[in-house]
Amino acid sequence: MTGALTRLGVHRIPVPVPFPEAGGPANVYVIEEKDGGVALFDAGIGTKEGRDALHAGLDELGISTGELRRIFVSHGHIDHYGCARAAQEASGAPVYAHLRDHDKLTGRDRTARRLELYAAYLSRLGAPPRLLEHVRIHWQDALRMARPLEHVEPLPAGTILRFKRFSAEVLHLPGHTPGLICLWAPEARVLFSDDHLLERVSPNPLLDLEGQGSRRRTAAWRCSTPASARRKGRDALHAGLDELGISTGELRRIFELLLAGPLTPAELAPKVFPQAREHQLYLTLSEVLGNLEVLEAQRRVARSERQGRIYFEAV
Ligand SMILES: [Zn+2]
Repeated sequence: MTGALTRLGVHRIPVPVPFPEAGGPANVYVIEEKDGGVALFDAGIGTKEGRDALHAGLDELGISTGELRRIFVSHGHIDHYGCARAAQEASGAPVYAHLRDHDKLTGRDRTARRLELYAAYLSRLGAPPRLLEHVRIHWQDALRMARPLEHVEPLPAGTILRFKRFSAEVLHLPGHTPGLICLWAPEARVLFSDDHLLERVSPNPLLDLEGQGSRRRTAAWRCSTPASARRKGRDALHAGLDELGISTGELRRIFELLLAGPLTPAELAPKVFPQAREHQLYLTLSEVLGNLEVLEAQRRVARSERQGRIYFEAV
């Protein structure tokens, strides 16, 4: 894997992420540009450790931040764009992301109005009002670990990015976030899959009011080498596809629980994740909802709404 990446003029810098739910460090890919300099695919989290890891990685490659030409962000999670603002300021490089995640990168999705929308939505999922407090804390964390960007360029699906040693197509794979993109290098058969497929954790589609699940689309892309954001390499994609962004064990567990009768996502979450602590409800609820959407698409569960609450039941 490393050999394949090196041949493409790509270098990987793992950047530590301070929350265990992330499942490990997030990779920054440093890609040699045609006319000198480098591009980044993802920028790592903006904590001190994150910045240090990125700078140490660039130092090791003999690259200064002034040599950054373009910065591509796979999706609007802080462990992927956290350092983008600083990198942009150091280099003047434009930052590109899919339009549907721009509000995350610019912080415009974290407004009082959106907090109200979240409150209404969480209540429909059956969540206790205190969960909203977690959303607020989550947003404060985001500001602490990722400075919002002022200017983000669009990165539409189908764009062909030309680098020094290969070209890659931008694939838009909404699910984990509405604007998640992967880079697909057809000649080398390498998929830069960031958080679309993860090795150790399922890529939790964090509750997102604009979200829509279609994580299974990767199945349509046949490739030999997924270069995930969080792993050193895997010889075949099929192992990742087995997971399809979701652990089948969780799917089964949720379906079994619903055989006993309808439940709200918030009632399901502690049953599916009995070990989870209360402050993790935001994450477990997101995970449960992602699984429910897959079961719903398979027509194995159906949702209904009663007295302002969304219930799911087995069909
Ligand atoms: Zn993510």
